[in-house]
Amino acid sequence: MANAKKKKARDHVKERRIWAYVVIALFFMFIIWYEYYSAQQEENHENADNYHVEIIDEPIAIIPEGEVLNVHMINCKQADAFLFEQNGQYGLIDCGTRSTGKDVVNYLNNQGVEELQFVVGTHPHDDHMGGMEAVIDNFRCNQIYIPKVEKGLITTNWYISLMKKIKTKKLKVTNPKFGDEFNLEDAIFKVVGQLTPEEAGQNVNNYSTVIKVSFGQMDILMTGDAEVPVERKMLESNVSLQCEILKAGHHGSNTSTSEEFFQKVSPEYALISCGIGNKYNHPCEETLLKFEKSNTIVYRTDESGDVVITVSSDNIKFDKLPGDYLDGPTLAKLKGVS
Ligand SMILES: [Zn+2]
Repeated sequence: MANAKKKKARDHVKERRIWAYVVIALFFMFIIWYEYYSAQQEENHENADNYHVEIIDEPIAIIPEGEVLNVHMINCKQADAFLFEQNGQYGLIDCGTRSTGKDVVNYLNNQGVEELQFVVGTHPHDDHMGGMEAVIDNFRCNQIYIPKVEKGLITTNWYISLMKKIKTKKLKVTNPKFGDEFNLEDAIFKVVGQLTPEEAGQNVNNYSTVIKVSFGQMDILMTGDAEVPVERKMLESNVSLQCEILKAGHHGSNTSTSEEFFQKVSPEYALISCGIGNKYNHPCEETLLKFEKSNTIVYRTDESGDVVITVSSDNIKFDKLPGDYLDGPTLAKLKGVS
């Protein structure tokens, strides 16, 4: 009898112990669930905040059905010239060199251009602005954008002659500032990078005006020859840099497209305008490796000549096949150009 009582008491203790374990286990499960729930709530909140900033910062223009923005990367050898066309209106960013400016003029004539809403000279180097005099001699130009440079910094004859020509023709000139905006019908052009003469100093590439072109949900970053200091300033500005297309800065040189900047832009496509066998060895291996590793598709004038990009509000098409990831000297060797 006594044994039966003792056994009952032992069972009772065992039962209470089991219940205690169950309660402790439930308590820990609750703690884990609560931590997870709180982390989820925090993440949702952060996402909502980011979205909120994006909406305020970058309102997306509604593009009417069927409308497109055509971007022409004009082959002008070791230089830049990009023609934009939207709804029958045209704008130009960079104009080729003094010697290839005529090729740019011919290209524009073949497109039926008579008037340019704007001409941007990203910075006063021959391979970007050398062809501008030919352009303003051949087309009505409603607005010129060129960066302000320190007096006496640029003493080349062609630049002095160009400045005189702009003055004689009484063309409207604006020195772009960070945040300036202009448009080509439904395409918005926003200045997202522009160093002051004090910041740029003696490096003319760093006077480059960087423009983000937005068409619906599609964005293109036009960088001129902006080098790392300009990229750093853009990163510090907190402006949204994410773009579908990146015009690789400085013809794909390693002075531009720093890792942090490239990650921030995270482009699907990269454009490189350069001449085959150029003496600067553009584009460089380092930049192309970056593109290749990130599956960024590259289009280059040294491989494909003129490239036309058709951008709709939710799609991008190219009229050429993508290029290779070969650096300048390797491609030149392969094509037998020294
Ligand atoms: Zn250049």
